[in-house]
Formats: sequence, C-alpha cells, structure tokens
Amino acid sequence: MHWTSAIVFPALLALGAAQQQRPLSEANHSGSSQHASADAPSYRGEVLQLLESLVSIPSISGEENEVGSFLVDFLKHQGFKVDIQFVPPPNDKPDVPDRFNILAWHGDRKSNYKTLVTSHIDTVPPHIPWEIEKGHVSKDTVIKGRGTTDAKGSVTAQLVAVNHLLSTNKHVNPEDIILLFVVSEETSGDGMRAFSDSLKHMNPPLSFDSAIFGEPTENKLACGHKGALFCTAEAKGKDAHSGYPELGKSANELMIRAMNKILDADLGYSPLFGKTTFNVGRFDGGVASNVVPAKAWVDISARVAVGSEKEGQNDVRKKIYDILQETDPEAFTLNCSHGYGPYESNCDVEGFEQIVVNYGTDIPNLEGDYVRYLYGPGSILVAHGDHEYVTVGDLEKAVEDYQKLILHTLGQ
Ligand SMILES: [Zn+2]
Repeated sequence: MHWTSAIVFPALLALGAAQQQRPLSEANHSGSSQHASADAPSYRGEVLQLLESLVSIPSISGEENEVGSFLVDFLKHQGFKVDIQFVPPPNDKPDVPDRFNILAWHGDRKSNYKTLVTSHIDTVPPHIPWEIEKGHVSKDTVIKGRGTTDAKGSVTAQLVAVNHLLSTNKHVNPEDIILLFVVSEETSGDGMRAFSDSLKHMNPPLSFDSAIFGEPTENKLACGHKGALFCTAEAKGKDAHSGYPELGKSANELMIRAMNKILDADLGYSPLFGKTTFNVGRFDGGVASNVVPAKAWVDISARVAVGSEKEGQNDVRKKIYDILQETDPEAFTLNCSHGYGPYESNCDVEGFEQIVVNYGTDIPNLEGDYVRYLYGPGSILVAHGDHEYVTVGDLEKAVEDYQKLILHTLGQ
C-alpha cells in the first residue's frame, strides 16, 4: 500500500475523453433540474448533477477505477489536493487492476485533522442506471439507480455539504477537514482496511479527532450497528439406499435439526441492539431423492447484538458451535471466516433523530482513537434491492445535516 500523486496515475490518463464526466461548472444542468422550484436550496442542481454522474458510472466492488477517476477530477476541480492509495485486487477477482482509495484536503497536508468525512464508492451488483422521476423536481422527487442510497447519495451529500459549508461559513477552517472515499466496503472492506493499515506508516502521519461515516440511516444519527459473524457449517453422514435409512446417517437430517435448534435459540440480546438474529443464507446437501445424504453444508450469518466490539462475535460462534456438538458430536465442523461485535457510535448531537442499524459498515475496519458518527440519506431497506432509490428531499436534508455534524465535530 502506498500513496501517490493522482496526477501520475496511469488509469486517469488512460480514460478516454468520452468517458470523462465533465466537472459541474462546465456541465449543463440535467433537464430535470432546470426549473427552479420554490422549495429548492441553492445547491439542488449541484446535488442532482453530482449524484447523476456518480450513479451513471458502474462501480461494483472490485471495479471502482472509473468512478474513482471521475471523483479525483471532480475534487481537483473543486480546489482539493488529492492523493490516491492503491488497493490490491480482491481474492475472488485476481485479474482486475489495482483499485484505489481517494484522500482529499485543502492547503498543505497536515498530520492532524479535526474531522474525517468518509464513505465508499463501490456498490453491490447488478448496476442499475440512474433514473429521475419525470416532471417538476421537488423534495418528493424520486431518484432511482444503484448506489443512490448505498452509498453514492452519502458521497454526494458529503461533498456538497463540505463545499457549501466552506463557501458560506467564514469561521470554518478548510484545513481542519479531510475527505476519504474507499473501495470494496460491500465485500471484504479491504479498501478501508488498507487505509487503516497505512496510517501506521504514513508520511506525513495522519490522525483525526472525529470520523463521519456515510451510509443510509434514513437521515437519522446512528447510535451504533450490530456486529456480524459469517460461517460455513458442514455435516458428515453416511450414504445408503433411502429404503434402508437405518444403514446410513443422513447429513441433511442432522443439518435440519441443528439449524432448527439454532433458529429457536437465544443467541443474545442487548437493550441497545435488540436480538442477535440468525440467517441460513445457503443450504445444500445430498445427491438424489433416493439416497441417504452423506454430506450437507450451509452458509450462515448472525447479526450480533451482544459482547464487545472485538469479541462479541465469538460469544455467538460458541453458542452455534455448542448446538452443533449437542446435535451430533462427530458430524459437524464449523468454519467462520470473519466477524465482529456490535459497534456504538456517537448519536448525542442536538437536532438529530436517532437510530440503531443492523447492517455492517467500514467502522470496524478503521482502527484508531477517534469519535465516530454514522449518518446518511436513504433507507437500508431499499439498498441492495432492485428498486434502490433516494428522494431529493432526503439528499438535501443530508446536505444540511452533514454541515451540522461537521460543525459539531469542529467544536462550533
Ligand atoms: Zn454502504
């Protein structure tokens, strides 16, 4: 992992002119935003234009370079200094070129910032094109497309908020704020992890007092999110003719009984995060209807409501393991790939509604001693779905709220 000047990054040069999105100042406003509306803030056109540009460039995890290049150009045009940080290809896509995180700031690079503003530029598949509801644009206007909510809506609102704040509030020092946009939040989180690792040996060093993470929280300030645990469980039995089941041992049957017990078990509860929930995401086993199955396996996950940030997932893993053992001490193996406990974030800021969310974020991937905030426009309930959307009002409220949050973190 190393940082380099964005100017020399070959991907930027390699991008054809036709693929380059125009900076806002040179671009025509989209047709829909040409009609000024009574309820429109001054930055409405800017919000619509930037979100349209970001959503129109597909950036499924592992393939974020084009949207990253657009963002680098955009930030430079807005007067930011920009560095990019290469991130190696993900394990399941070894042939994709190196991706990159983007770091942006004003003035000379300092070693300590008051506020880091961050979100992710990758999305889940498949790409869904940008689409804005026809007719007059108002706060209720719906914008559809992949990333409108998760999380290009957050990226857009964060950028417009920072620009608006710096141009309207003379008391804010632009050099107190640093921006970070990372790759691969939706898969391994290795974009944020690469950034976090690089903090140990960055030159000049880099630290920040607060970090504002952009993810869909329904425009509320999150008090935290549940932890998570991802595992594969396997049951080994013995095959036999289905007419003589007593001669075999059904791995499917063992798995069904074990999963039933886990679904009914108390995997932990806390007042802030509620119940630990359990999902059997993939279930497979056996070879044919008339064969007693010798092998069954499941991909499972839990959303962890209990325990510490670093260890909460282990409590849940132990409970799942114990139930598998109790079902059959010889048949089962359990392999957990990764997990973490629940993470709290600071939700004690005046003027914000509060929420607790059940999904994961990049917060566990960014180590260090800083105050966390988690906020963004749109709902997680439509993120990752085929009808992902955000409203113009959601985005504009987020622009206002991000400014409030930034001012709060600046002590103003
Ligand atoms: Zn997200």
